[in-house]
Amino acid sequence: MRTICAILLQMNLNKLKTVFADLPKFRLKQAFKAIFNDFAESWDEVTVFPKDLRAKLNTDFPLGIKAELIESSDGKTIKALVSFEDTKGAEAVLMHHSDSRNTVCVSSQIGCAMGCEFCATGDMGFKRNLTSDEIVMQVLLFSRLLKRSGQRVTNVTFMGMGEPFLNYDEMISAAKFLNKELGIAARHISISTCGIVGGILKFMKEPFQFNLAISLHAPNNELRSKLMPVNRRFSLEKVLQAVAAYIKETNRKVMIEYLLIKDVNDSAENAKELVKVLKKYLVNLFVVNLIPYNPTGSRPEGFANKGTFAKRTPFKFEPSSGKNIAKFKAVLEDGGIEAVQRFSFGQKIAGACGQLGTRLKNR
Ligand code: SF4
Repeated sequence: MRTICAILLQMNLNKLKTVFADLPKFRLKQAFKAIFNDFAESWDEVTVFPKDLRAKLNTDFPLGIKAELIESSDGKTIKALVSFEDTKGAEAVLMHHSDSRNTVCVSSQIGCAMGCEFCATGDMGFKRNLTSDEIVMQVLLFSRLLKRSGQRVTNVTFMGMGEPFLNYDEMISAAKFLNKELGIAARHISISTCGIVGGILKFMKEPFQFNLAISLHAPNNELRSKLMPVNRRFSLEKVLQAVAAYIKETNRKVMIEYLLIKDVNDSAENAKELVKVLKKYLVNLFVVNLIPYNPTGSRPEGFANKGTFAKRTPFKFEPSSGKNIAKFKAVLEDGGIEAVQRFSFGQKIAGACGQLGTRLKNR
């Protein structure tokens, strides 16, 4: 791991229209092109503007984004802790894929109220919602970085800190902006939820072809409620019924995310149960994405013995072994379920969601 840079400065996109209010309309268009298409990092690069205007803009509306970046040792992943005016940080991650896709995983909130047991962000609690601009800035940061090597952001996933459907309006406005202004195809933008049923039902009415991913992580209510407190409000059945309604309405494929945690949810029995429950509620158009757990956070006491989660111990959850993951996948496939296994990118930079923020805070 190595820290590759600390980019400084601040940018508040809300000010943009105000700053350009007294200028001819075409200037605002040029500014949008400079920021969201050419990914200018300073107004000095925007030579279509007169020199005095560039100087004024550098003072009134600096284009900088404040962030600390950490790159994984294999160079495939870069994690950013992005700062805003109130200095609280949101995490974003850039993942380079071997097929030349560049995916940015963005946060929609700082912290999270959902308290999932396997997630460091859950441990932080909820701090605040991010604005649409602040979400866009996370992508902009990496767009600028990629521009230096002639690349672009091709995909965006809302899988960072926070529950996107609990910040629905800002999340959807950011997704639409990324599509319209940065030219990222709607089909390449994915929203991941822990199972907020109202959000799923609202999302299915959106006229854009964004993707939906569901963090399921357990095949039954008992286990899911232990891992994800949201399940006490929206049970597995309610979530899968909402997903079925979404598929019926949109005819779009849904990604079912399943984190594999050693001795917690990765047995062959768990896999068989998952097949059963998915087949009961979903007829087609879904795929299970198996994600090896990325070690983080503290372990609830008594978990392996199916005890209560009243106390926490310093022990961490552990990722499933490769053998168990393969077995789990085989059971799903034998049951007629399409399953894929995603590489756990964050592992090499100590980065399950929330982990970087926690680490920096403790410095
Ligand atoms: S996994 Fe997602 S929904 Fe759960 S606590 Fe972490 S950020 Fe929140």
